[in-house]
Amino acid sequence: KAITADEIRQTVKDENVLFLRLMFTDINGIIKNVEVPISQLEKVLNNKITFDGSSIDGFVRIEESDMLLYPDLNTWLLFPWENDHGKIARLICSVHRPDGTPFGGDPRNNLIRVVNEMKEAGFTAFNIGPEPEFFLFKLDENGNPTTKLNDHGSYFDFAPLDMGENCRRDIVLELEKMGFEVEASHHEVAPGQHEIDFKYADALEAADNIQTFKLVVKTIARKHGLYATFMPKPLHGINGSGMHINMSLFHDKGNAFYDPNTDDQLSETAMHFLAGVLRHAYALTAVNNPTVNSYKRLVPGFEAPVYVAWSGKNRSPLIRVPQSRGLSTRLELRSVDPTANPYLAIAAILQAGLDGVKNKLKPEEAVDRNIYRMQDDERKANHIQDLPSTLHNALKALAADDVVKAALGEHLYQSFMDSKNLEWSAYRQQVSEWERQQYLELY
Ligand code: ADP
Ligand code: GLU
Ligand code: MG
Ligand code: MG
Repeated sequence: KAITADEIRQTVKDENVLFLRLMFTDINGIIKNVEVPISQLEKVLNNKITFDGSSIDGFVRIEESDMLLYPDLNTWLLFPWENDHGKIARLICSVHRPDGTPFGGDPRNNLIRVVNEMKEAGFTAFNIGPEPEFFLFKLDENGNPTTKLNDHGSYFDFAPLDMGENCRRDIVLELEKMGFEVEASHHEVAPGQHEIDFKYADALEAADNIQTFKLVVKTIARKHGLYATFMPKPLHGINGSGMHINMSLFHDKGNAFYDPNTDDQLSETAMHFLAGVLRHAYALTAVNNPTVNSYKRLVPGFEAPVYVAWSGKNRSPLIRVPQSRGLSTRLELRSVDPTANPYLAIAAILQAGLDGVKNKLKPEEAVDRNIYRMQDDERKANHIQDLPSTLHNALKALAADDVVKAALGEHLYQSFMDSKNLEWSAYRQQVSEWERQQYLELY
């Protein structure tokens, strides 16, 4: 059900749309907006809107700064909440060069490229069901975020413990107005922590949805006087926020991960894909966990993965294979956190999995025990490796992995590395409160 330019023109009239927000995503996964008045509609529809690419992180240098926005009409959406001055609509755009060719430094273009490679390999869709988690914190009197929790609820608690419940409910309602199919929403394990799950979609739509989701969560939280953060580990000592990625490859005949004729009803394709993701797990970590703070979450004891392994039962490994079969046969990658740029993460995971399919890789045996509780030598005997423990180590792994590098493409790989190496180098020069407490008086 593709949306046409004429349908958009009609909606603009019927709904009195006054502004258009053109959205795209920078290398760090941050949504960028160019807002134009509705008088510019024809320019928008004819791919004539330009912006200064040199002012966006990881895009281009000053000399080649005029970039074009090509809207994807299927992403047309009216924001339900901004009605005071007439309505605002948005379109998600791909970034193109002045000569009209797709710009290789745009994460969205890159995902489209990798999905096309998948289609050449005989698959029709890479379905992605994300499980984003986030914290709700109180705002201070100036409207700035604090780290004060607004409830002390826990997993599946009911009100009055769960003060964020009203806010979360509102978020779900807004998402539904915008066409999201919300499958579940609940309080998470940590106080102040929540999760909202929405229905899986093909790679590009899923990445767009994740970006829209974050925008909606932050906007509605503010209306409740709260601040929503997707920072992976805002508080020491309690669970962090992940964004598990459920995934499956589809082909003409349905779910390519499902095979009713094997013992566990997982197809050979599923096992090869799983093996590919495991083989490239180190390099993928840089993309899926791209901030210094990401690695404070990937520690034992907080339901986040620390080791490279898979299981059909246990939730401690990197990849879990949920019990459902048939259409919902899927792998759940548990390392990803919400600071990941979804376009880059999905492209990288897809390429890693396809590498496994192409080379018919076989995974190690499943580990159905709690890996956190194993001894080091036991893990060694089972060939269980650690995930990278810092951004620095993950970046080194990425630099050594040609498959994941190819998934990003030359331009994005370079700007990702440059940006993240700077981040690491700024961080390693900091002296933290923990260090002063630990060493100041001792030495
Ligand atoms: P969990 O087992 O971790 O509690 P949830 O039930 O919370 O998982 O989330 C399931 C997610 O998986 C949803 O986003 C759902 O749409 C998605 N999902 C279901 N089937 C598939 C599939 N075949 N491919 C990808 N994602 C799927
Ligand atoms: N919050 C946990 C994490 O950091 C995940 C909890 C869950 O299993 O949903 O990944
Ligand atoms: Mg969860
Ligand atoms: Mg999950």
